[in-house]
Amino acid sequence: MVARHDETTDPVLLDGLLQARRGTAFFARKLNELSDMDLDAPSLLPGWTRRHVVSHVGYNARAIARLVEWAATGVENPMYPSLEIRNHEIDFGATLSPIALRNLFDHSAIHLNVEWRDLPADSWHHKVTTVQGRVVQAEETVWMRTREVWVHAVDLDNGASFHDIPAPVLARLLKDISGAWSSRGTDKGLLIEVTGHSSTLVFGDVAGSSPVKVSGPLAAMTAWATGRGTASVTAKHGVEAIAPPAAPPWI
Ligand code: ZN
Repeated sequence: MVARHDETTDPVLLDGLLQARRGTAFFARKLNELSDMDLDAPSLLPGWTRRHVVSHVGYNARAIARLVEWAATGVENPMYPSLEIRNHEIDFGATLSPIALRNLFDHSAIHLNVEWRDLPADSWHHKVTTVQGRVVQAEETVWMRTREVWVHAVDLDNGASFHDIPAPVLARLLKDISGAWSSRGTDKGLLIEVTGHSSTLVFGDVAGSSPVKVSGPLAAMTAWATGRGTASVTAKHGVEAIAPPAAPPWI
């Protein structure tokens, strides 16, 4: 029996699914705005054309769908057999004809959505392992995909920006990134300040004696944190204004 609606009734999860679906629709829209020839041009990611981005986002949906299938059946189904195979797959996908590349994106997104929709409520708590070796509940797959579609829509480099990304998605992304820095200790000497909220959000090296303070609005700070530019970001060392430093690596 195939349901036409989500099996889960968890409001937080349903809200997450909405952000993932909106992000997928947004990526689809930006992709549709590109002509077949436009696909050959560089993306914002070093060494990747737009073709690589579309290929990666398509195969990413398939990989995430494997985790959802794992949760549904209890049979281990990793995202990728290995990182090498993941990378080969992206390079291969980038060589597909434009129509095949567009189909890869469309079909993989639909497949993932069906897997999510039909996943029984209990199975969302089933533990699965990501390609980085993180053990997570199946519900984490929604966020994993949300992050990919919104950020890579910007990487297509045809007009999307971090301003198009919903604030809750930006906030969670920035929290993920700063959490990763903090657990690795790579944010030493960096004080990060998000302005423009009712209360200013501060994190990073809050106990440091003279940290470099990097500040800006949420969209700008999230773009900076992911290594995608310093527009609208300012930095200060003491009272002296300086060029914003490169953010520590995220992945
Ligand atoms: Zn990615």
